[in-house]
Amino acid sequence: MKEIIAVNNRVLDINLSTGKIGTIEISHKDRREYIGGKGLATRLLFENIKTGIDPLSPENIIVMMTGPTAGTPSPAGGRFTVMCKSPLTGIFAASYVGGKFGISLKKAGYDGLMVRGRSDKPVTVGIDNGDVVIKDASGSWGMDTYDFQEARKEEGDWVVIGPAGENLVKFAVIASDKRIAGRCGLGAVMGSKNLKGISAKGNRKIRVADPDRFKKALKIAQKKVLAHDNTGRRLRELGTPQNVRAYGPASIMPVRNFGKSKFDKMEDISGETIRDRHKIKNVGCPGCPIKCGRTGKFNDRELVSPEYETIVFMGSNLMLGDINEIAFWNDKLNRLGLDSISTGNTIGFAMELTEKGLLESDLKFGDSGNIDRTIEDIAYRRGLGDELAEGVRSLSQKYGGEEFANHVKGLEMAGYDPRGCTGQGLGYATANSGATHLSGATHAVEADPLGGGADSYLSPHGTKGKAHFVIMLQNLVEMTNSAIFCIQTQFPFLEENVAYKYTPAPILRFIMRNLPAVAVGTTDISDYCALLSGVLGYKIGKKELRMAGERIYNLERFMNCREGISRKDDTLPRRMLEEFGEEGWAPVELDKMLKQYYRIRGWDENGQPEEARLKKLGIVY
Ligand code: SF4
Repeated sequence: MKEIIAVNNRVLDINLSTGKIGTIEISHKDRREYIGGKGLATRLLFENIKTGIDPLSPENIIVMMTGPTAGTPSPAGGRFTVMCKSPLTGIFAASYVGGKFGISLKKAGYDGLMVRGRSDKPVTVGIDNGDVVIKDASGSWGMDTYDFQEARKEEGDWVVIGPAGENLVKFAVIASDKRIAGRCGLGAVMGSKNLKGISAKGNRKIRVADPDRFKKALKIAQKKVLAHDNTGRRLRELGTPQNVRAYGPASIMPVRNFGKSKFDKMEDISGETIRDRHKIKNVGCPGCPIKCGRTGKFNDRELVSPEYETIVFMGSNLMLGDINEIAFWNDKLNRLGLDSISTGNTIGFAMELTEKGLLESDLKFGDSGNIDRTIEDIAYRRGLGDELAEGVRSLSQKYGGEEFANHVKGLEMAGYDPRGCTGQGLGYATANSGATHLSGATHAVEADPLGGGADSYLSPHGTKGKAHFVIMLQNLVEMTNSAIFCIQTQFPFLEENVAYKYTPAPILRFIMRNLPAVAVGTTDISDYCALLSGVLGYKIGKKELRMAGERIYNLERFMNCREGISRKDDTLPRRMLEEFGEEGWAPVELDKMLKQYYRIRGWDENGQPEEARLKKLGIVY
């Protein structure tokens, strides 16, 4: 049996227009500078995609990349990155997903793959231990993501789209098992290529390059994962729906298209209610000891238990509080291949448009009667669903209501209202993909009542220290999504350290609020360095890893700037900047934070990375 020592350093290059299949070698320099996952995906797109192309044209390229940790016992390393130019936002977008596909791809002899061109008929790609075949998939077109994977499981582990991707819904997802690469419409790009799915099967054995160093680092990492209250207990017990009780009272949970700060049925959709009433079982990404995913019984059906984002966008954002209905819609969204965050935002926006007399529809806050049909209408682009399938930005351009259209750069808002955690607002405004919660997510230190609330480490409101923490977290996420470590490892790896754990909370709070540069500069990322050094077999220090995160973030920004992004786009929905009447909300002083942010980043006042910074990072020479 062939062995892989950490990585293959080979990426499959598939052209669906010509049927040509090749490989691209990853150089040692690129591996060191961009690590894997998100980093190498960004670099590959930078080198291979032309500026200004239509995201749904054959010129767009989808990259799927694993990280060096895939297939090793590193905690939560089995996820992979999917990246391309987004049809929803028109700029670059990455999504991250679990499922077995990534590890199987690596075991087949490839760290990742790129898909270019467009097939003239529906196809799948089968990868089996180095053999790659493009197959006719006309008979499978139209199948939902779960049924398709079940019917063709003999061929390997899959990434697949549902009808929404086939119908080019701008927020269609890609599924891998029952895990979802959810944001920015990457499923529509697969659909535009007539690509139903890709299967991978491999039997190579994956070994780390320095077993002794890795074993030592792993022992420490596993101990921390189990010791931390979030990864050792709360995520297993409550999953991400723990955020409902954490963020509902803190005025952060989206309610009524972000028009209200409190939801009176909050308890009905909380993680605790789901745990107590729905016979929850833990499931998770391969090799993950945390297993934050869950299944449960909802009206006697065994279904995937919805995550926090789905619960709030199909629940409180629409003024609906029946968790059985939400779980059923979640199942439907996953099968049809729709992003629950964008779907819930778009339906909520249509409800408010209707209420204000700007749109004729039967959608109404608090009325669940038409939701099921609306989800299907979006996926199959029937009637009004055809317009909803274009997302909030497009709807607001046609029907008005820009003052309550909740998106940034065309990406619908994630489930953390910045009026209750202002640094998160800066995170949304500057995130490369738009209003994602997975980049610069300061909400956890600004307002998580379990770690703070009124006593949170950063003040929920105001601007103090926010730019420093947003940048640190954005860079950190780039690095962890490149290595790959699941974002949830941030809690134990950053917080289960002597300095953090044994410094009294008031002192930590003082340092974080008043000396943010010191606080972020001393953030301990040594567990990531130790694990990655063990996997790859050479020493990767904190400085090198931090710089890689900064490099990847800046490269994507540079690519977005070439697409026309600048200061004018680094903003927030008007509702977030103008409406503060509800309990717990405060103004988001975006301009003030943005100025600081650009200065620290080394970007000019129009938000363009300065040449000196790009040279220092090795992006331009
Ligand atoms: S913590 Fe959850 S999302 Fe992260 S790797 Fe584990 S199961 Fe997957």
